[in-house]
Amino acid sequence: MTRPLRIAVIGSGPSGMYAADALASQSDVEVSVDVIDRLPVPFGLVRYGVAPDHLSIRSVRDTLDKVLDKPGVRFIGNVEVGRDISLAELHDYFDGVILTYGASRDRRLEIEGEDLDGSVAATDFVAWYCGHPDADRATFERLIPSSTSVAVVGVGNVAIDVTRVLAKTVAELDDTDMPQHVLDTLGTSRITDIHLLGRRGPAQATFTTKELRELGELLDADVIVDPADLAFDAASDEVIRTDKAIARNVEVIKEWSTRVPAGRSRRVHVHFLARPVELRGDDRVREVVVERTALDGSGGVTGTGELTIIAADFVVRSVGYRGTGLDDVPFDAKRGVIPNAEGRVERDGKAVPGEYVAGWIKRGPTGIIGTNKKDANATVASLMADAESGALPSASAGSAREFDDLLASRGIAAVSTAGWRSIDAAERALGATAGRARTTIHETGALLAASAD
Ligand SMILES: Cc1cc2nc3c(=O)[nH]c(=O)nc-3n(C[C@H](O)[C@H](O)[C@H](O)COP(=O)(O)OP(=O)(O)OC[C@H]3O[C@@H](n4cnc5c(N)ncnc54)[C@H](O)[C@@H]3O)c2cc1C
Repeated sequence: MTRPLRIAVIGSGPSGMYAADALASQSDVEVSVDVIDRLPVPFGLVRYGVAPDHLSIRSVRDTLDKVLDKPGVRFIGNVEVGRDISLAELHDYFDGVILTYGASRDRRLEIEGEDLDGSVAATDFVAWYCGHPDADRATFERLIPSSTSVAVVGVGNVAIDVTRVLAKTVAELDDTDMPQHVLDTLGTSRITDIHLLGRRGPAQATFTTKELRELGELLDADVIVDPADLAFDAASDEVIRTDKAIARNVEVIKEWSTRVPAGRSRRVHVHFLARPVELRGDDRVREVVVERTALDGSGGVTGTGELTIIAADFVVRSVGYRGTGLDDVPFDAKRGVIPNAEGRVERDGKAVPGEYVAGWIKRGPTGIIGTNKKDANATVASLMADAESGALPSASAGSAREFDDLLASRGIAAVSTAGWRSIDAAERALGATAGRARTTIHETGALLAASAD
């Protein structure tokens, strides 16, 4: 082949950027990589998921950004595969397509009252405070000033992020890149109580200790744990003995249970063995009916039938993310992933030529950002092996210029790497006006305008 191998990467989150990096870094074959994203800006959940007050984790985007400087790598934002262009059409322009479009839908609790006004998915709340263009701004500008007691359902790191953002003072969030309207709305909060509800025990919760500890170190919020929630069975004792991270978490939680509240403006109540079974309300959610659970001796819980009511006029459901299918792509709806073998997309157990997958949509919403690097590298290794063996389907892919012309002919305002750099500069300049490193521009129109500067 005299021209470079042309690869499209669909999604510019960590897995897409790591895949582009792996392709650009190998020296066997000359490769040109177009990283296509439905949003005008790159980096997926590093921009729109990772908590804005976790500045060092968010700085991963500086590393990801360097990939866009590599020869042969282009960012093509504001192009949604499945809406602006089909996967079948992509095969006309690229020798291979790597699907890295993430898993950004919420899982549901499947309980009565879940859809009452005031009950929201963590995915939506996180999108709002990170300034995602699709976020429902009006809902949160209405809910936050009108709520006093919040229930956050779920005990993973996302539930902790949500709780912390709600419990912090605006001064504690001022050095973040949250849009100004988000900070302004959080400044109107009258929330005094935040209930974090986990159905299992302290030894079964999937927090990382650093994130957990932060909850007990907030400026104007007391953290409260009922000593009665510190239940441990033989399975808990075993996991505490063998898993250092769990043992550390349990120590943090035990220390909290001994604290005397200092009379701060907000209280974070961390509940274990508490399973929400119903949300009740009128025009809006008012309370959560919680069933006490008991450890079953093997890492799970059973219901005890004992019910309590927690007042909550705002409920954030944080019980996980899930992937969705894309037209023409095989999809395992049960697991929420694209079926694959070593990153090769499979239909009925057979590899689909030229189609690959990496990241959350390959393995489900698990692991840390770095997990996606190993995952993307493995997928790229499969692709390169197929290129070497001649298993890629087409040697007649259209050129980059022809692909750009196709998008333009459809009236799509695609954002290039240079366009993204202009947005980046505009966000830094906007941040500087308030003494911050960056302020996120949240509207698609404003992002596109900034990309054209
Ligand atoms: C709230 C939250 C907080 C987190 N915090 C941390 C943390 O502190 N530390 C940590 O290590 N990990 C954290 N994670 C996990 C981390 O964000 C993920 O591991 C990682 O982002 C997954 O990468 P991905 O590329 O597979 O998906 P994503 O990051 O979701 O990227 C997918 C990309 O695909 C694009 N896309 C979607 N559909 C299409 C389409 N049809 N056409 C074109 N583009 C499309 C999206 O716009 C997006 O840019 C967090 C996750 C969440 C949800």
